[in-house]
Amino acid sequence: MNSKPELQLILPLFNEEAHILEIVNRIDSSLSNKVATFEYLFVDDGSSDDSWKIIQELSRNNSRVHGIRFNRNFGKESAILAGLKESTAEAVIILDADLQHPPELITEMYDQWKNEGVKIVEACAANKKRDTIVHQIGAFFTYTLLEFASGTPFQEGTDFKLLDREIVDCICQLPEKNRFFRGLVSWTGAPSKTIEFTPKERAAGASKWTLKQLASFSLDALTSHTTAPLRLITFFSMLFILFSLLLSAQTLYQYLSGNAVEGFTTVIISILLVGGVLSAALGIIGEYIARIHEELKSRPSYLIKERV
Ligand code: UDP
Ligand code: MG
Repeated sequence: MNSKPELQLILPLFNEEAHILEIVNRIDSSLSNKVATFEYLFVDDGSSDDSWKIIQELSRNNSRVHGIRFNRNFGKESAILAGLKESTAEAVIILDADLQHPPELITEMYDQWKNEGVKIVEACAANKKRDTIVHQIGAFFTYTLLEFASGTPFQEGTDFKLLDREIVDCICQLPEKNRFFRGLVSWTGAPSKTIEFTPKERAAGASKWTLKQLASFSLDALTSHTTAPLRLITFFSMLFILFSLLLSAQTLYQYLSGNAVEGFTTVIISILLVGGVLSAALGIIGEYIARIHEELKSRPSYLIKERV
């Protein structure tokens, strides 16, 4: 890599062979005259198609193109982290390699950073379309909980962001393994600016997230960013204690006024309720313990196989 480019574009990708050339062309033509020095940093998250070949080829003809390749698919969060850790530029922009994040916004983000001194420029997707119903419902619950817990809007947030070197260093220094990139950026609390865009339909291929990945992403996002679910347990326990007190009072009253027995329904309902609440509570605690376990193992978030 050159000594220190002014701007680096970090592109996490997983099987995006159809888009790589077009992205580079579009970004090259919109940035060439505006940015002094910029580079591409492709992070191939274990693609099984020709993505890596295309990147290798590109890097031979275009000195701006650099890439790292993972041993296997580690997930987008790991790919972003690797990109941030490898970056050297004064500012970086993270964008999807499927052209859903319009490269034309880059100059606007760059101007904000260069001329206004903004440390974080976030691109928000207005009316974000999600591929499936399950995806929509899952995203709604995850983001609503996150918003409720942190007070920051997440619904329209994307990973399409410009970060100043200061922020990149700050995020890279954090020792945690289970990362939720968007949450970490807002956690730094640095002055930020938001730009809106309307995401396009995917040009080719399908969304790369499987249901299992999405579920685990949502859980990671929630547990790494908030302990609200744990607090929810406390809240429900309180509610439950209140309910039990009322029920006890009622039962006692029945007993004292001589119309005892009859309480079968109440017994069943309370057993079911206690059982449900307890197992939900254990499940939530389990999720956090699983993550504590992951962090303690301290395995790296990714393994790099090759570089160009
Ligand atoms: N991606 C990745 N690793 C994965 C899944 C996705 O690096 O395991 C990349 C993908 O190639 C794309 C970006 O992350 O550049 C966003 O993925 P996708 O378009 O599938 O997600 P969506 O747009 O539905 O959020
Ligand atoms: Mg996409």
